[in-house]
Amino acid sequence: MSASKKGDLSPSEKELFEVITAGNVQEASRLLGCKDVRVNCLDEYGMTPLMHAAYKGKADMCKLLLQHGADVNCNEHEHGYTALMFAGLSGKTEITWMMLDAGAETDVVNSVGRTAAQMAAFVGQHDCVTVINNFFSRARLDYYTKPQGLEKEPKLPPKLSGPLHKVIMSTNLNPVKMVMLVKENPLLAEVEALDKCRRVMDLICEKCIKQQDMNEVLAMKMHYISCVLGKCASFLKDREDKLEGLLKSLLKGRDTDGFPVYQEKFIRECIRKFPYCDATLLQQLVRSIAPVEIGNDPTALSVLTQAITGQVGFMDAEFCTTCGEKGAEKRCSICKMAIYCDQACQKMHWFTHKKICKKLQEQREKQEAETAKLRMQQSKEESKAVQEATDSIQELSVETDSEAAPSNSEAETSDPVTIQAADN
Ligand SMILES: [Zn+2]
Ligand SMILES: [Zn+2]
Repeated sequence: MSASKKGDLSPSEKELFEVITAGNVQEASRLLGCKDVRVNCLDEYGMTPLMHAAYKGKADMCKLLLQHGADVNCNEHEHGYTALMFAGLSGKTEITWMMLDAGAETDVVNSVGRTAAQMAAFVGQHDCVTVINNFFSRARLDYYTKPQGLEKEPKLPPKLSGPLHKVIMSTNLNPVKMVMLVKENPLLAEVEALDKCRRVMDLICEKCIKQQDMNEVLAMKMHYISCVLGKCASFLKDREDKLEGLLKSLLKGRDTDGFPVYQEKFIRECIRKFPYCDATLLQQLVRSIAPVEIGNDPTALSVLTQAITGQVGFMDAEFCTTCGEKGAEKRCSICKMAIYCDQACQKMHWFTHKKICKKLQEQREKQEAETAKLRMQQSKEESKAVQEATDSIQELSVETDSEAAPSNSEAETSDPVTIQAADN
């Protein structure tokens, strides 16, 4: 069939747009099998079926359309919106992922010069921004698993590509989590493998800086991962307790308030060691972190996380005290202040948390007592206000009653005491 012109739709294509809106995957699947249906047909605004499905947040429909060869980078929309932009606007991270995984370009801009990440940020879909900014396709990494030029061996052994990609794709930059990811994979948790991965990270970092449209965010992330992997390698080489020891160092809190000083210093050092001094992002990070005394907010981790993933603050969800994963729900039963993903995270943290757990408990109880006192006062004041309001309403209704009462008999029936007396 011919290439699609805007709004030039066959009856079946018109029907396809309708069933996408209704979310009827089965019917869409049938229509896509018809010979007068083009998967990349355009409606009057230049929107493809995939754009519609992405915008409406229908993941199954997007999957189906991609399976039928929908062009994820079609750019005929009247304002230059792409399917990835619509996915970001929908706020559905799963769909945003799907588009990226299908090869969506991230640096295309719409008619007012905004990228998909910028558009998603503009409408407050920060989870989608995170997904877009942190995307690094497996194919880009796999490039290093093939010998290039005169190389006899590839820079990255193919078996390491999968585990390394998992580390790269993590949106949780807490070094504890990254070390856990290394530790859980025996292929990766080995000095020689880590050194190879580091070199690849450094190369990608350099490429991100030197390519035409510089990507400082990704460069910083690659550099940071390289630093964490380097730290893992040094602990594996020199220490008896190996990665276990590194995790302990990263988690160990200082005596006064449990603040993990080693972790803070490590992240600050990683940032400082970024090899491209002119980078704007580096200067921004240093400016935000340098004046902060260790132990105060913002932490280096929160500043770095915000710069790389676009996540603003840690306010809208519960994060694991140990590994920083989002959605932690289990609380320490004593202090109820520390939150964990699971028992494993709690166990790992206990050696240091036990020193301040009691103190936290006391702090919480004191605060709760104060809140309760405050609430008592508030409710007293409120009930006083309610009483006053009720009084004035009663005054009002007394006045109305006397005005509205045309005769004695009617006035009597409206009086409950009189009715009761009549019943008896
Ligand atoms: Zn955790
Ligand atoms: Zn506790």
